[in-house]
Amino acid sequence: MFTGKIPSSTMAVSNFFDGINPVIYFIDGGVRMEQQQEKRQTLQGKCNFCGGIFGKRAMTKHLEKCRQGKIFQTPSNKNKLRKVRVFHITVEGRYNPEYWMHIEISADAKLKDLDSFLRDIWLECCGHLSSFEIAGRTYVEESGARCGGKDRNIMLSKVLIPGMKFYHQYDFGTTTELILKVVSERESELSGNTIVLCARNEPPLILCESCGKTATQVCSQCIGSGAGWLCDACAEEHECGEEMFLPVVNSPRVGCCGYTGPVYDE
Ligand SMILES: [Zn+2]
Ligand SMILES: [Zn+2]
Ligand SMILES: [Zn+2]
Ligand SMILES: [Zn+2]
Repeated sequence: MFTGKIPSSTMAVSNFFDGINPVIYFIDGGVRMEQQQEKRQTLQGKCNFCGGIFGKRAMTKHLEKCRQGKIFQTPSNKNKLRKVRVFHITVEGRYNPEYWMHIEISADAKLKDLDSFLRDIWLECCGHLSSFEIAGRTYVEESGARCGGKDRNIMLSKVLIPGMKFYHQYDFGTTTELILKVVSERESELSGNTIVLCARNEPPLILCESCGKTATQVCSQCIGSGAGWLCDACAEEHECGEEMFLPVVNSPRVGCCGYTGPVYDE
């Protein structure tokens, strides 16, 4: 039964697996490694308000200006503007920070809403358990709260303050860990949305570990072995068989468990 605490042995294994980065395992010479690392460091993302492309840090500054007075509207929520306190939060993979997002979320949204959002866009494969860790406390879903952790049916304003870092874990077997940071809190107008995706990273370029072309698939068996990331042609030759392949998708959960991409179309 889930108790809100993860046994350290599981953590060690899952950290190892999840921390594997295709970039590192691609290496067979210093030059290639340097090129790959450079790509990682300069990895850029797109602002959803203006379409501008910026680095992860520059995006914070950019959004401060670009977001001003802009209302993120979808057809379904046109008339429901309201003034709310919002948190500007950055999210990134704990072991693969090349995957990142800037979001704005109303302070009266609940931790469980944030959990659903993260699942929808980056994580959900087969309904695994998840948890937040905030200021040394673990927040789980209701059923878990009964046996240890705190209930995440709680407003963000009750647990977050600007400048705070906190953590999210999805799946306690093949864990995907995220780091979240509260950049700022301010007043904003939201049009029915409680969460706005302000910006996210452009898909990182991952190369086929067999021939060097762009990888499109990853063998869940061989990920981390130096021969798991493959282009279509090389995937056909790969021994493990089709059922082991997962698509290369823009998420820190790429290649894990049965993850095939976001729940909704982007
Ligand atoms: Zn912009
Ligand atoms: Zn799964
Ligand atoms: Zn190839
Ligand atoms: Zn394989």
